[in-house]
Amino acid sequence: MTDSAHATIPVGLTRPPGTAARAGSLAVTLALWAFVLGNLAAIIYFWQYGYGDGLAYHWHSFDNVLVGMGRLTAFLSGYFALIEVVLLARLPFVERKVGFDKLTIWHRWNGHAVIYLALAHVFCTVWGYAKQDGNGILTEYWNWLTLPQPKAPGAAAAVVGGAGGAPCLSVLPGACGGSHAAATSPYPGIITATIGTFLLVLVFVTSLVVVKRKLSYEWWYAVHFMAYGAIALAWFHMIPDGNDLIVSPGWQDYWMGIWCFAALLVFLFRLLVPAVNTFRFGMRVTEVTHEGPGVVSLRVTGRNLGRLGTKAGQFFFWRFLTKGFWYTQHPFSISEAPDGTSLRITVKDLGDHTAKFGQIPIGTRVVVEGPFGVFIDDGRANRKRLLVAGGIGITPVRALLEVMTGDVVALYRVASNDDLVFADELERISRERGIKVSYVVGDHTTPEGRDLLSPKHLQELVPDIAERDVYICGPVGMIDAIVPNLRRANVSREHLHVERFAL
Ligand SMILES: Cc1cc2nc3c(=O)[nH]c(=O)nc-3n(C[C@H](O)[C@H](O)[C@H](O)COP(=O)(O)OP(=O)(O)OC[C@H]3O[C@@H](n4cnc5c(N)ncnc54)[C@H](O)[C@@H]3O)c2cc1C
Repeated sequence: MTDSAHATIPVGLTRPPGTAARAGSLAVTLALWAFVLGNLAAIIYFWQYGYGDGLAYHWHSFDNVLVGMGRLTAFLSGYFALIEVVLLARLPFVERKVGFDKLTIWHRWNGHAVIYLALAHVFCTVWGYAKQDGNGILTEYWNWLTLPQPKAPGAAAAVVGGAGGAPCLSVLPGACGGSHAAATSPYPGIITATIGTFLLVLVFVTSLVVVKRKLSYEWWYAVHFMAYGAIALAWFHMIPDGNDLIVSPGWQDYWMGIWCFAALLVFLFRLLVPAVNTFRFGMRVTEVTHEGPGVVSLRVTGRNLGRLGTKAGQFFFWRFLTKGFWYTQHPFSISEAPDGTSLRITVKDLGDHTAKFGQIPIGTRVVVEGPFGVFIDDGRANRKRLLVAGGIGITPVRALLEVMTGDVVALYRVASNDDLVFADELERISRERGIKVSYVVGDHTTPEGRDLLSPKHLQELVPDIAERDVYICGPVGMIDAIVPNLRRANVSREHLHVERFAL
């Protein structure tokens, strides 16, 4: 282990964020939650009271319960699917409040909810109608795909009298002994719904860890992209086939409204803003530097880059418009504090895409989405800080070392000396800014390396570690190994800032 320099500068140079800023942030967070939960409450309310006779209507018999649950799960899966889209629409104001990694976790769990609810909808609806129509489940489903539907869907959707005066929700001609209108053609919405559900299941299966590991990221992403198709197809099922919506034009308008709102956000923030920024900032690669074995830095220069509002510690999604790169975008943190004229990234060869980075020609046009990330200086220089970098996780840490003031120390963990990047730059920053940077070198799979950055070792390296805000960045394996050690070294959860190099 090497200590490159050691000094401290006075604490308390900047003030903690004011109470007004904190109150503003809380207000935005509460407003977002109110919006999400308010819509959810409206949907459940409508399901209960908007069609038929409230819950009593759905609870009248077992088949009605099934159909009622089928409808509720349809609304909820549709709503959660829209939230899913919005969660990854990369809305800057949401990202700033929540953080990209947390949004990605929410996206994952919300995705589970969408698929389970969609399958529950299919199962409950087909089973419920099958019971009402006196069919087997598969026969009922086949009928929907192939048999003519009632001529006037609105009329068919109204509650018709079943045997013994019981409500019957079937929309199939002649079902429940009721009086359906004359038939015309099969349900188009069932076909689109079937394709959409199949696509959702495909996305779900390819996202399972065991399957995902076997796919290249590009293939996984291409399949994942189909979720947008599935959600679009659901529109053609829900709007023409959803009984509740057919009988209530206001409710139909509401659904179309939230659907269009989600589509608009995606269009704006995933397509329009990056496209406009490409022309606005005119970013191009102006320098390619080989930093060491398998590590390349790219400098990207453009007009008025200060207007991006980038902070040290943040990352962008980068797309390079050159052969072999244009079709995919990857997340990389900036490895220098932004100066308003250029941005630098430093990339380690970890796979098929990053292996080719040294070949990107000077002058290549660059499209970015971002900046993203809350792994930034919180301005609380009255708190002491410890920065921990693992391997290529040094990139945002190096940028932060340029801007953080107060009592800052850093640990740089690498498996071998060959993995050290920016040794000269760190030496300089350390000297100029009076920051102690300690290198922790060793292979964790060997007996000598096993205890590096253990709780005891951390306390030896940084005796006042429990009094510090800790910023840690690196590959997932390293983060998962070190974060528990930091906690055991008495670093509280609220003082931990984590950036994982995986989404
Ligand atoms: C917020 C963040 C910041 C990062 N900053 C840096 C950095 O400064 N320097 C650096 O060298 N690496 C950084 N990475 C990691 C880098 O994005 C991956 O190493 C790189 O995308 C691997 O691509 P590949 O095709 O060469 O490797 P592959 O072998 O194809 O992929 C390896 C793994 O990288 C991830 N990955 C691949 N492609 C993408 C993509 N398009 N979008 C999201 N994840 C993907 C997947 O988890 C995949 O399993 C960062 C990652 C994140 C999430």
